Amino acid sequence: MQTLDLVAPTTQELVAAGLQLPIMEAFYTIQGEGRFTGHPAYFIRLGGCDVGCVWCDVKESWEAAKWPVLSVEQIVEDALVFPGRLVVITGGEPLMYNLDPLTKLLKEKGFTTNIETSGAHPFSGDFDWVCFSPKKFKKPHPSIYPKADELKVVIYNNRDFEFAEEHAKLVNPGCELRLQPEWSKASRFISEIIAYVKNHPTWKISLQTHKFMDIP
Ligand code: SF4
Repeated sequence: MQTLDLVAPTTQELVAAGLQLPIMEAFYTIQGEGRFTGHPAYFIRLGGCDVGCVWCDVKESWEAAKWPVLSVEQIVEDALVFPGRLVVITGGEPLMYNLDPLTKLLKEKGFTTNIETSGAHPFSGDFDWVCFSPKKFKKPHPSIYPKADELKVVIYNNRDFEFAEEHAKLVNPGCELRLQPEWSKASRFISEIIAYVKNHPTWKISLQTHKFMDIP
């Protein structure tokens, strides 16, 4: 009689399927920026990023292999410990992974799902709010533009206003447009951002209020 030789999938295969994901950190805090500013939220920060922003404040996230790999069931179970039902998936660059299984389970458990992404990889997942923050260091994948609910452009130098307008032309008409000073340059650029938004009122200002509150 022939026996079936069942081989368990490797971690690499499970990660490729989005059933397990590298978690740099996960924590319950207050969303400090963008549309959901002030909302309590559970942040899931996935390890791994290949975008390479020079001013990145989470460079330790870049190397995915440094972080423990957890099943989506475990990730959701950990989120359920806290009373809030808003989840923000961030990174690193979360769209390096297939986010369909994680967001499906989060929604089954009653979570509102948000993502913060540079859009540098093909879109996946079921999200209630997509915050798209394009970076000059790696071109966004075209699949992000129709999905973006919010376009958040970090202003690090004067050329970033033009970069912001280029992307504003590509998102849906209802997409909310925000300019956010890069934290280390905030004092230098804030007056220019204020003047820009007053003259271009389709834009709003986003501040990293969690940094003022000294919370993660
Ligand atoms: S996309 Fe985000 S995590 Fe990646 S380098 Fe840029 S700021 Fe850092």
